[in-house]
Amino acid sequence: MQGFKKITLMLNSIFNNFLNFILPNTCLACDEVMDHGSNYLCKSCYSKLEPYKETHPWQAEHIAGGTIENSFSVYWFREGTAIQPLFHALKYQKIKRAGIMLGKEIGKLATSKITDNIDIIIPVPLHKAKYRDRTYNQSEYIAKGISTILKAEVVNDAVIRSRFTPTQTRLNKTERKINVSGAFKVNQRHNDKLRGKNILLADDVITTGATILECASVLKAAGAGKLCICSAAYAELKINVV
Ligand SMILES: [Zn+2]
Repeated sequence: MQGFKKITLMLNSIFNNFLNFILPNTCLACDEVMDHGSNYLCKSCYSKLEPYKETHPWQAEHIAGGTIENSFSVYWFREGTAIQPLFHALKYQKIKRAGIMLGKEIGKLATSKITDNIDIIIPVPLHKAKYRDRTYNQSEYIAKGISTILKAEVVNDAVIRSRFTPTQTRLNKTERKINVSGAFKVNQRHNDKLRGKNILLADDVITTGATILECASVLKAAGAGKLCICSAAYAELKINVV
């Protein structure tokens, strides 16, 4: 058996070297060739991802208001760091498995952040125009990754957009809140299923929290149980328009 294990390891190593030769597996951030055991980022770039250990600016207000129980992100999203090419690959290069990997990271963090069992995981729905261009919602893959750790059901179409909203990129915090107000509704098909259930809402990046908090409030109004919100990364809003 020991000999068989050795041969298997040797064959694996030969196969990986061969794969690297014909199809180099390179780091999305630094372009270094990685071994085939690494995914998207090399060990060095991966270790430089900055964990988000702070509290979301809206957390206290919304927990006190009773909309959510908790709110957390795994990493800081900072331009020019290794997280940027990782998210770029997930959103624009159809590397959906990066979403699953990030979702697993959320799942691991969730086990220390959430005390109640999560029944259902819901991804934040993508803007319709973006969905048309992109053909997939990256947050659905993040939700899928979370579910592998938390063993909860994913309901992708639980929250749907009820009206068109202009892109938020150039909007400040207050404008974003107005922009998404009334923009979501709970899918009637899932009303009964969601009632009284503990739900984890997931997104790729949270900035002001306006979108995900609006989704949380429509779920709450529809009778959902405890709600937690999370994202793979948190980005500070760069615009300071009054
Ligand atoms: Zn690297």
